[in-house]
Amino acid sequence: MGMDSDTLFFAAGICATALALTMLSVWLQNRMDRFLMGWMLGMVLLGCGAVIYSTVPFHIETLTAFGFLLQTLGFVAVYVAARVFVGKRIKWAATIALAAGLSLPVVILILAGLNGLGTAIYNLVAAVLIMMTARLYWNARREAPVSIFAITTLYVLTALSFLLCGGVLLQARSWTLDAQPNSWAENVNAIMALAGITGIGALSLGLNQSRAARRHRIEARTDPLTGILNRRALFDSLALDHLQPADAVVIFDLDNFKSINDRFGHNAGDRILCQFALELRSNLCRGDLAARIGGEEFVMVIRQANVPSAISMAERIRSSFKAQPVQTGSGPINCTASAGIAIVLASDEGFDSVFLRADAALYRAKNNGRDRVMTELQVVA
Ligand code: GH3
Ligand code: MG
Ligand code: MG
Repeated sequence: MGMDSDTLFFAAGICATALALTMLSVWLQNRMDRFLMGWMLGMVLLGCGAVIYSTVPFHIETLTAFGFLLQTLGFVAVYVAARVFVGKRIKWAATIALAAGLSLPVVILILAGLNGLGTAIYNLVAAVLIMMTARLYWNARREAPVSIFAITTLYVLTALSFLLCGGVLLQARSWTLDAQPNSWAENVNAIMALAGITGIGALSLGLNQSRAARRHRIEARTDPLTGILNRRALFDSLALDHLQPADAVVIFDLDNFKSINDRFGHNAGDRILCQFALELRSNLCRGDLAARIGGEEFVMVIRQANVPSAISMAERIRSSFKAQPVQTGSGPINCTASAGIAIVLASDEGFDSVFLRADAALYRAKNNGRDRVMTELQVVA
């Protein structure tokens, strides 16, 4: 089978452009995915550059140089997109310096008539940029090891194919060329470009979608104000990891919270809720759960707690919360909390019955003057 690398590069260019349109449609559905913008730009630049490279006669230096310029900028954009994807800051000055420093020598060499040397340098530049991108993904492989391993492999193979093209040109000392180089290395490079663009494109979209799905799952489980579990997540967690005899369920309810809201405003109220959630969170041990199940009501599940240890945990949270008034423009707000504790018994069939007993204890804590912890059985504070 005879293979013409120009046709393959042309196909790669069209592929890249089609992928850019796919990325655009995904980005339009979720504009938070900024990395898609970088990828899209990269694919448009690479696609146009590859189409120019494969269709324009090589001796038209300005167009050839322009094609290489677009491709180099395309690789820089893909590198920047990868930085965004792995959560690194974009350093604009460094990026502009990188783009200029890597593309200018190629452009100058080609305009000076040394199109063979320029092409060789372009290939090496592309290899470096692709390896830099591969490194970013590799360092972030924990997020999705299989997909990221595949992406990194494709990047590395593509980089090697560019390196090969540059090496072949340098070794042949072909500083000026009449037509696009057409060695076996160019064919390998063109095939790798096609495989790289389609494979990396599909994998990147897959990674992006699974990241979005994970984000939605977390959002659906999280109370947006305090960041701890919401009611639904508490029930889901308990459905997966059932309550066992000797686990403790503690319901906390902030005292007179309505009047705090009325006096200091809703924002101040929100800050108090966050502070209480922080208090719960900082007292969690492995396997324990803390959730905001309603306006100013929280539930804590303490695994394998005996009555005294559940009481002392609830007491610690109550007194520490009370001791840290929230500072506002209108002065400090002293808020307190009441708690009711129930211990899971072997006869309990599910969360509901334990919850009802803890709620009854909470009710008694409120009736006995608030700012206290009560169990099903005893008055504690
Ligand atoms: P008690 O001591 O008996 O529990 O009295 P309370 O005022 O705390 O109880 P009540 O149920 O009467 O009022 C709860 C208040 O919690 C009413 C509501 O305005 C407030 N609240 C509910 N959700 C939020 C929220 O997300 N932010 C703020 N700031 N307030 C909230
Ligand atoms: Mg309350
Ligand atoms: Mg309440």
